[in-house]
Amino acid sequence: MDVIVKASNVEFAYKKNNDNTPKASVLREVNTKIQEGEFVVVIGRNGSGKSTFARLLNAILVPTQGVLYIGGKKTTDEANLWEIRTTVGMVFQNPDNQIIATSVEEDVAFGPENLGIPSEEIVNRVTEALKSVGMEEQRNASPHHLSGGQKQRVAIAGILAMKPKCIVLDEATSMLDPVGRKEVLKVLQDLNQKENITIIHITHHMEEAVLAKRVLVIDEGEIVMDGKPHEIFSKVEEIKALGLDVPQVAELFHELKKDGYNVPDNVLSVEEAAQCLVDMITKAGY
Ligand code: ADP
Repeated sequence: MDVIVKASNVEFAYKKNNDNTPKASVLREVNTKIQEGEFVVVIGRNGSGKSTFARLLNAILVPTQGVLYIGGKKTTDEANLWEIRTTVGMVFQNPDNQIIATSVEEDVAFGPENLGIPSEEIVNRVTEALKSVGMEEQRNASPHHLSGGQKQRVAIAGILAMKPKCIVLDEATSMLDPVGRKEVLKVLQDLNQKENITIIHITHHMEEAVLAKRVLVIDEGEIVMDGKPHEIFSKVEEIKALGLDVPQVAELFHELKKDGYNVPDNVLSVEEAAQCLVDMITKAGY
């Protein structure tokens, strides 16, 4: 499997203060590799550096020290910018800010048009992209009349039409209602599983982190935890000390364990919890 993101001692500091003193680094010693096809969720409290990390991934920002490679290409090398920006697509928090056209299909076509793709090819790409996000029926609709979840799915389709290998979502579900969040997560899981697109999803919804294959926890500009959701969320006290929540089910099982009940400490979903309780009841002979 190819490595799509490789960060080697990456640091980033925003520009100097007015008095010319350098600002402190907001990312420090970031060393990580993300393989093509991974589904990674990034969590961390406000101001920990998540957005800055996202912006480094498609070279909106470049490291002030260290090296970041996207698909083997250094982001600091201007000659690589085009390739990096077509490899990594970004979806942002506010769905309304991402609408540029008056119809869904024109909106999705905007990216590939800018890439100079021939128009017949664009029509195919738009159709494919809208199908992938389940929005083909709204092709001629005005994006402004869609729900938040639908708008974000159109934004994702716009990225897909540029055929990226990786999509980075910077809190793209945070302004959505639970239905919209579910819709977007389903699309992300499908794109990851069926089209092998690498997903890097920044979120503060811990229930979404549970769906990932890998969770990165960032605190004060450093990656402080990196593992599978079950590993990360079994460390309830550590996660809480970082100012983060754990999924409700994990919290419940943690409390039961603290009260002396013999329950596992890596239960994350309602389904796992139900199975575990059924097993306990059966074992108790009821
Ligand atoms: P998060 O996404 O985890 O909330 P950010 O990456 O947005 O964190 O911010 C990390 C730190 O960088 C914060 O202290 C924030 O105030 C600072 N910061 C973010 N954007 C800028 C900017 N454009 N100029 C200066 N400082 C910034």
